[in-house]
Amino acid sequence: MKLLENKNALITGASRGIGRGIAEVFAKQGANVAFTYNASATAALELEKELQQYGGKAKGYKSDASQFDQAQQLVDEVLKEFGTIDILINNAGITKDNLLMRISEEDFDKVIEVNLKSVFNLTKAVIKPMMKQRSGSIINMSSVVGVKGNAGQTNYAASKAGILGFTKSVALELGSRNIRCNAIAPGFIETEMTDKLDENTVKAWRDAIPLKRGGFPEDVANTCVFLASDMSAYITGQTIHVDGGMLT
Ligand code: NAP
Repeated sequence: MKLLENKNALITGASRGIGRGIAEVFAKQGANVAFTYNASATAALELEKELQQYGGKAKGYKSDASQFDQAQQLVDEVLKEFGTIDILINNAGITKDNLLMRISEEDFDKVIEVNLKSVFNLTKAVIKPMMKQRSGSIINMSSVVGVKGNAGQTNYAASKAGILGFTKSVALELGSRNIRCNAIAPGFIETEMTDKLDENTVKAWRDAIPLKRGGFPEDVANTCVFLASDMSAYITGQTIHVDGGMLT
């Protein structure tokens, strides 16, 4: 049984990493997939073709999630092409790590804009059509760092903690319209974002994880399938940790 048959999903930042993994698993589960990228046009085109092989509709859009007007325009275009948006996954994110002593105002603002403002931009753009159809599932990609904090990541941790407050507030505001909003807090998922870390840090992280491995994009994608599908119809306002037990 395919869990997302006939559902239309919009996923931000799917040209690489976790977003790409979510797009692939969603297409396999029968969803039609609209996804965004910011710079990786070639990878996006390849993904579009790959997803279409699963038989559903798939289209990549160049859209900077941190820009309010671009988010509105994107949602209009996706609605025109796909008809409805049943699932929104706010996945796009960046890091610009530095100790607070050294971090620039520009690097603080940029991470907040791409990671947190983007969640506001896209959510604001989809809620009207979701309210009209009286259903929707919104999934926001936070991080264990947003729950626990992390030295050298004040900007990133603040953006990811902000997502948790936003998620719970949306769940409270829109539950009566049958719009659910949940967050995922991945731990250490091996992607290009974590490739930037030095090998000793990565080894120390793996050793400290109860399941003794980093996560795969599919681990996060499978949790998204659950939160997007009717299997989680009575779950809203929650944060699911996908971290191999890291914060336990
Ligand atoms: P990644 O491999 O660096 O991929 C980031 C994706 O976001 C890319 O597709 C990128 O598109 C897109 N993106 C960046 N800026 C954008 C913008 N302004 N507008 C639209 N798209 C944009 O990162 P990842 O590891 O897959 O992480 C995905 C999400 O999970 C992020 O929110 C991250 O904070 C979160 N997360 C990751 C981990 C981890 O261990 N990897 C842990 C916890 C949380 P382009 O290719 O076009 O630049």
